[in-house]
Amino acid sequence: MGDPPPERGPEPEPERGPVPDPASAPVPDPVRDPWRAAMRLALDQAERAVRSGDVPVGAIVLAPDGSTVLASGYNEREAAHDPTAHAELLALRRAAAALGQWRLADCTLVVTLEPCTMCAGAIQQSRVDRLVYGARDEKAGAAGSLWDVVRDRRLNHRPEVVEGVLAEECARLLTAFFRDR
Ligand SMILES: [Zn+2]
Repeated sequence: MGDPPPERGPEPEPERGPVPDPASAPVPDPVRDPWRAAMRLALDQAERAVRSGDVPVGAIVLAPDGSTVLASGYNEREAAHDPTAHAELLALRRAAAALGQWRLADCTLVVTLEPCTMCAGAIQQSRVDRLVYGARDEKAGAAGSLWDVVRDRRLNHRPEVVEGVLAEECARLLTAFFRDR
């Protein structure tokens, strides 16, 4: 009682590790890295769209285990003469058919491009737990760019959103498609 507080020495210098070389190994990204393999499958789907002159967007739906592919789809607007034949919509429909139920709780939709308003609505309706996408669509995206329909707080179901997975590869595919047209 009444003892003066022990004197503190000067604060130790914070330890600084070596400065990482940006040209060396990529920095681990614990949020996005787990979805890279699934995004590669979605990219494979996207490449199929080009055959019919469709914009290369691909999607897959993963089962609740996070790795089993329930369904896949790619943009078929031109091929099917269907304005609603977006990759996400087709993949969601096929996943529901595969499960035998419309509700895709605990499932994950992985798509190469940020969903449009139509697909964001479908994502919301499907009750998927998680949306993972690659490139942003600054002109029409409805999951963070122009709108954020999927995370609108007025809706009672809001999936987790992981964006920017293999974003450069996803965008490169689109850029090449429009350049070659
Ligand atoms: Zn769409």
